[in-house]
Amino acid sequence: MGLIAEEPTQFNWPINRGFPELRGLTSTFGESREDHFHNGVDIAGLNDEIKPIAPGTFLFTRNAEDDPFAPLIGPGNFVIVDHGKGWWSGYYHLAKSGKARSGPVDANTVIGYSGNTGHSVGAHLHFFISKDYGKTMVNPLIVLPGTVDQNPPEIGALTIVTPTTKTSVPPGKVSRVRLSQAFPVYITVTDPGLERNTNRGVYELRWKLNSAPEEVRTFQKLVVHDGEWKLDGKAFDDVFGLGLYSLGKLGFQNGTNTLRVVAVDQAGNKSETEFQLDVQRMY
Ligand SMILES: [Zn+2]
Repeated sequence: MGLIAEEPTQFNWPINRGFPELRGLTSTFGESREDHFHNGVDIAGLNDEIKPIAPGTFLFTRNAEDDPFAPLIGPGNFVIVDHGKGWWSGYYHLAKSGKARSGPVDANTVIGYSGNTGHSVGAHLHFFISKDYGKTMVNPLIVLPGTVDQNPPEIGALTIVTPTTKTSVPPGKVSRVRLSQAFPVYITVTDPGLERNTNRGVYELRWKLNSAPEEVRTFQKLVVHDGEWKLDGKAFDDVFGLGLYSLGKLGFQNGTNTLRVVAVDQAGNKSETEFQLDVQRMY
């Protein structure tokens, strides 16, 4: 998409899994991980050869065989490659590193093998692409070669959460709701991949309540500020809640309300849904 300027070079996928179909993508960029954003992409697989997404030099390797008494932390065995101009890529949970642990790498260097080390459930490669020397995480799907994807995102129900109840509002029919104040509203959106349990992720989420200005959230990059990662300047709790996408506290009016929601994936597939709420405002 070319949305991120100053790419040092052409990037490639670190694992060849039938490109351009790209099978095995289980988690994507910016999704909710309980209390933080997922900062990269996961590709399922064990002992797959991993090659760097671009030429560069090893910035750091952590390999249990080299340092058997050091405890394995979250990333497990991992490699970070420096691509110049502040661009880095990282590869986590490796079964082991490749033979080379330092010096230059190119498109043919095997830097490691996918595994299940560190904080990982099921063998997979977690990889991230960052710029600004690690202070900005970029959605890999923006800078990597495009993949086949004909599945538009699927927009599910709204969830309105009060201190005592959770109300589910399905699309396409009028729902009557009584509200004692403006409560947070969440929405279920998924973007299925080619196989079961795979997932490409929402790239853009837009919503418009009645004639209010449209709100937009773009899953393009995460930027760290004072130790907190933000997406489009929004903290994690503003973007997600209950593992769902947060639309914030919507200012419903008394009577009929129309909420239009648009979800777009990285390949440009788009879904649009309308919710009709008959609101009885008690405040
Ligand atoms: Zn991951």
